[in-house]
Amino acid sequence: MILKIKSEASDKEISDVKSWLDTNYFPYQILTRYGYSLIAIQKKFSAELADTISRLPAVEDMIDINKEYRLASLSWKKERTTFSVNGNLIGGNAINIVAGPCSVESEEQIFKVAQFLNSVGVKFIRGGAYKPRTSPYSFQGLGKEGLKLIRKAADAFGLSVVTEVIDTSLIDEIAPYADIIQVGSRNMQNFYFLKQLGKVDKPILLKRGMYARIDEWLMAAEYLLTEGQEKIIMCERGVRTFDTTVRNTMDIAAIPLVKELSHLPVWADPSHGTGIRSLVTPLSLASIAAGADGLVLEIHPNPEEALSDGMQSLYLEQFKELLVKANPVAAAVGRVLENAAKSQNENFSNNHKTIEECVE
Ligand code: PEP
Ligand code: MN
Repeated sequence: MILKIKSEASDKEISDVKSWLDTNYFPYQILTRYGYSLIAIQKKFSAELADTISRLPAVEDMIDINKEYRLASLSWKKERTTFSVNGNLIGGNAINIVAGPCSVESEEQIFKVAQFLNSVGVKFIRGGAYKPRTSPYSFQGLGKEGLKLIRKAADAFGLSVVTEVIDTSLIDEIAPYADIIQVGSRNMQNFYFLKQLGKVDKPILLKRGMYARIDEWLMAAEYLLTEGQEKIIMCERGVRTFDTTVRNTMDIAAIPLVKELSHLPVWADPSHGTGIRSLVTPLSLASIAAGADGLVLEIHPNPEEALSDGMQSLYLEQFKELLVKANPVAAAVGRVLENAAKSQNENFSNNHKTIEECVE
């Protein structure tokens, strides 16, 4: 149950609600989220008690949410969550595009990607500096050096940074370099970690766990929300199934389903969702058609030489073609790609910088 409290309710009226809950032994939590004053109650009321409480003067609405997740639910917050990251609206009508290598590998690599993204009007660069690899013998990322490089490249070309935090101990180190913090698939159910991230003043890109059901994924968002985090983006990135022909099975249905269940924006990552370069463009188009609010894509200037996830990384030219193909699909569902929306408003081609201009 969630009680929405009227914004004009007096202290006395609110304390009447609290006394009523105390007297009737209903444990509750008082919260403010998205500008609403809420009282979240663990137990359900009988019809009679529900009628009594809904008549208390402070109560604007009483929402019976028969799901474990509450704050993440669309049942109490009917308007979709949007927020801004460096002036870019997340969850709005424009579909956000995030692209970049799986890992930051060198100054040359990340600057090449940043310059390219700027040239096509994309506003977000991704790249891991600390990588969660299956094998301890695989490239683990450049660490702090990688963070500095992606930040420097992003700043040189006016981009925002999406990068992963893989452990609680690294939050303080990584957060200052990130505009959006990525929680990877392997950490989606690391609840203590989620609680810590719930307190961080940076938006969170919450990847779906590779074995996670939709309700478990929404519960992970609930962990962030209960700690005060409001800027959360859900990201479908494929799940493990019996089929080993693909790296993961991209669950396209999850995109409209999470949007039916939650007010949070939903992005799609067809790179990890399939693990196969040739499938990335068709699955990107399918994600947009299914209502995705953003795409997260791995691209690399030379995928054959990539230190991680080269098989699923697009060549830069392929990514450019993807954007061209995605435009009419976005239009067909009443949306516009963020870079296309921007290019209508500003002539970003005049902003081009060369790598030489940016690297001293
Ligand atoms: C990544 O984005 O490079 C990554 C490791 O993602 P995921 O957690 O979805 O596997
Ligand atoms: Mn990757």
